[in-house]
Amino acid sequence: MENVLNKLIEENKYLTKYGKVADYIPALSNANSDDIGICIMDIKGNVYSSGEYIKKFTIQSISKVIALMLAILDKGKNEVFQRVGMEPTDEPFNSFYKLELHEEGKPSNPMINAGAIVTTSLIEGKGNEKFTRLLNLIRDITGDENISYNKEVYMSEKSTSNRNRAMAYLLKEKGLIEGDVEEVLDVYFKQCSIEINCIHLAKIGTFFANKCRTLNGDTHYPEGIANIIVAIMTTCGMYDFSGQYAVEVGIPSKSGVAGGILGVVPNKYGIGVYGPSLDKYGNSIVGYGILKGLSKELGLSIFA
Ligand code: GLN
Repeated sequence: MENVLNKLIEENKYLTKYGKVADYIPALSNANSDDIGICIMDIKGNVYSSGEYIKKFTIQSISKVIALMLAILDKGKNEVFQRVGMEPTDEPFNSFYKLELHEEGKPSNPMINAGAIVTTSLIEGKGNEKFTRLLNLIRDITGDENISYNKEVYMSEKSTSNRNRAMAYLLKEKGLIEGDVEEVLDVYFKQCSIEINCIHLAKIGTFFANKCRTLNGDTHYPEGIANIIVAIMTTCGMYDFSGQYAVEVGIPSKSGVAGGILGVVPNKYGIGVYGPSLDKYGNSIVGYGILKGLSKELGLSIFA
C-alpha cells in the first residue's frame, strides 16, 4: 500500500504548480504550496501513509462535518434541516445564494459557509461552550486529547471575514440562526482554525466509515448519523465540483481551504490528504489528483 501512496504523490506533484494557496485569510498564505501528505486507515486501524502526513494544518471547512453531526445530536435531524437544506448547489462555498429570498430562503446545504454558520449556531451551549464541545468531539473521534486550534489563523480570519459576518447577520435577520451573531461567528472561526494532520483526518474518516464507532470501540454515537454525513459529503462536500468529483473519484469527501481533504469509504477506509495549493473551487488540486488515482488503483468508488 505504501508503494501505491508514494507513486501517487510522485505522479501528481506537478499539479501543485497549477493551483494557488488561499490568501483571503492572510495567515493561510504562509503554507508551503509544494507540501503533499496522505494517510489511509482501514476500519481495523491499520495505517498507511506517505509524504507530509504529520504536518499540521487547519481543518477549515472539514469542521462543517463535525458541526453538522453535533447539531443533529443536539437538535435532531428535523430541526436542523428545517433551517438548512440538503441540496447541492453549483454556487461557490461562500455564496449568498437564496439568502436574498424572503421565503424558502435558507442555505442550500450544511457544507457551504452559510449552512455551516447555521449548524454551528444550533450546537448546544453558550458562546465558547459550543466550541469546546465541538473540539472535544474531534478529540474523542481521533483519540487525541492534544488537538487544539491555531490562534494566529483564528485571529486572521476573525479580523478579515467580512463576507461571513455579513452572511451571519442576514441569517439572523431571517430567523435561521440561534443566539448572538458575534458569538456564533467566533465559534465558527475557531472551529475552522482547529489544527489537525492527515492521520487525524484518516481517523475521522474511519469513524464515519465504521458507522460512528471510534477505533477503540469505547464510544458509540447513533449510527444513523453516519448515513446523513456520508450522503451530504457525497452530494455537497466538494462544493460546486461535487458532481464531477463523484464521477471521477466516487469517494464521499469534504475539503477545506487550508488544503485538507477528508475521505470516507463506507465499511472500509478513512482517508486524509493534504496539499495547500487549491483549484478554482477551493479544493486541494493535488488532493483531487491523488484521490482520483487512489480510487482507480484500489477500486474505491462507491458507485463502482
Ligand atoms: N474558514 C473558511 C471560511 O469561512 C472556510 C472555508 C473553506 O474551507 N472552504 O471562509
